[in-house]
Amino acid sequence: MPVVRLEVHTGAACQLVEITAQVRDAIRASAIAEGIAVVWSAHTTAGITVQENADPDVARDLLLALENAVPRRAARGMYRHGEGNSDAHVKAALVGTSATLIVERGTPVLGTWQGVFLCEFDGPRVRTVAVKVVAG
Ligand code: ZN
Repeated sequence: MPVVRLEVHTGAACQLVEITAQVRDAIRASAIAEGIAVVWSAHTTAGITVQENADPDVARDLLLALENAVPRRAARGMYRHGEGNSDAHVKAALVGTSATLIVERGTPVLGTWQGVFLCEFDGPRVRTVAVKVVAG
């Protein structure tokens, strides 16, 4: 199955955008019933996470915690990266750039409250998320 590329439009500097439906569609399009799906962010300032999608405050709290841990201006010392978005790079590194999902009967195995999110840390932008499904 070829890699499916999702185009994700983000609307804020920092934002979690749920992409579960698009990921389900990509898995369905693969026609692979049993296997593994890798969801990959092709960026250095946007990551992928699996988190609660029932209460939107969870996503907000995650962003707040990351902002507290990695403020735009370093609490001590100074970032050196000239683009001025070092906090976004660090946040993306902490969250990670991919999620691996188990595919069973053509759908991802997700808990009741789990959703797949693109984590934007330097938006708004158009982001590319790659999905690769491997049978197994
Ligand atoms: Zn940068």
